Amino acid sequence: MTGIAYTQVTNENFESVYKDIVDKIATAKYVAMDIEFTGQCQTIHKHMDQRYVELANVVKKSAMVSFGVSIMAPNGTLENYDVLLVNQTVHQVDPSNLLFLAHHGFDFNRQLRYGLGYRPGVFNVLNRPKEIKIKRGVRELWVDIHRQLRAHHVPLVVHNGFIDMMYLYHSFITTLPAQFQHFVADLVDAFPGGIYDTKYIARKILDEEVSFLAYLYYQYMRRDNKRKREGDDDDQQQATKKLRDDPSYMPPPICDDYAARGYCEGGYKCVFSHDLNRILERDENLRNSKSKSNPQSLVTPVPVTNAHNAYFDAYMTAYIFNHMTTMMGKEAMEQQIGKLYLMRLDFPLRLIKSQFANTTEEWNTMKKHIDESKQ
Ligand SMILES: [Zn+2]
Repeated sequence: MTGIAYTQVTNENFESVYKDIVDKIATAKYVAMDIEFTGQCQTIHKHMDQRYVELANVVKKSAMVSFGVSIMAPNGTLENYDVLLVNQTVHQVDPSNLLFLAHHGFDFNRQLRYGLGYRPGVFNVLNRPKEIKIKRGVRELWVDIHRQLRAHHVPLVVHNGFIDMMYLYHSFITTLPAQFQHFVADLVDAFPGGIYDTKYIARKILDEEVSFLAYLYYQYMRRDNKRKREGDDDDQQQATKKLRDDPSYMPPPICDDYAARGYCEGGYKCVFSHDLNRILERDENLRNSKSKSNPQSLVTPVPVTNAHNAYFDAYMTAYIFNHMTTMMGKEAMEQQIGKLYLMRLDFPLRLIKSQFANTTEEWNTMKKHIDESKQ
């Protein structure tokens, strides 16, 4: 549906793809990730200590249903994985989250049958006598991935990823700390390669007016395609003209809520258009008419999908990160390491080592296991 090649990781192919994923992480330039989950916080506090406590409460009661990773190989290609997950403990689901996933093509039947089971919180391997060996599961996979990320200082890339990091931490690393400052201290220590948040960079550094994931992705892809196509203008103009001249096509008006934020109250029932090609074309023409240059932006539409899968979101994040690095340069990009976007706040979450907050005992124990254990 998305046209992007990926591997879905399930209990059917787990053993055969395990080593491949870990090996690719070891040589990766960076790894983008996205998580789909069952619960969201209804209230977003301005005060971060309080926001964290409320989010942690939701994360601890909910579940991850899929985990997408997009791995940038040294040769510049992206390898995409979609890991299907089943939280095997009793947990809550927010029906609106499930509906959202279902309407974007998520297959719950498949998830339950083929998803990899996991138990969140403290990793039970740590309490198990060493002589007892059991079959490795998705938490062992994460430990192996995490070891490579740490050993090779591979950066993680997320888009609006604060809650994703909380889910990842609680599901695959250890129980979320009671206090926000300890969570931050653990994150800093856990990911020495650093974490980038493309939402923060888009909003605060590049001043993008609209910064939801799919919008940025298609906007940057259109720009990249335009640059690539310079030289064969004729074909391009013909293609665009053909599209505009089709008299049978009367599209509905653009949904302004969707165009600004990437979602609207109407959801999949909305009668207005969520067509990103049209939205981007309109916005580009608006910007161009403001700057009084090139009023007719003739960009061939790119195939747009509304698919919303962990692997595709991870892939889009990686694409955006790549585009931004090319635009800004590597050094300017590195200034943005460790700044996570915080909804409704003007400042980012700074992931820097604090002399006041220590890492937690739980993380220290897990760190020892990650760095010292070998499969
Ligand atoms: Zn709408």
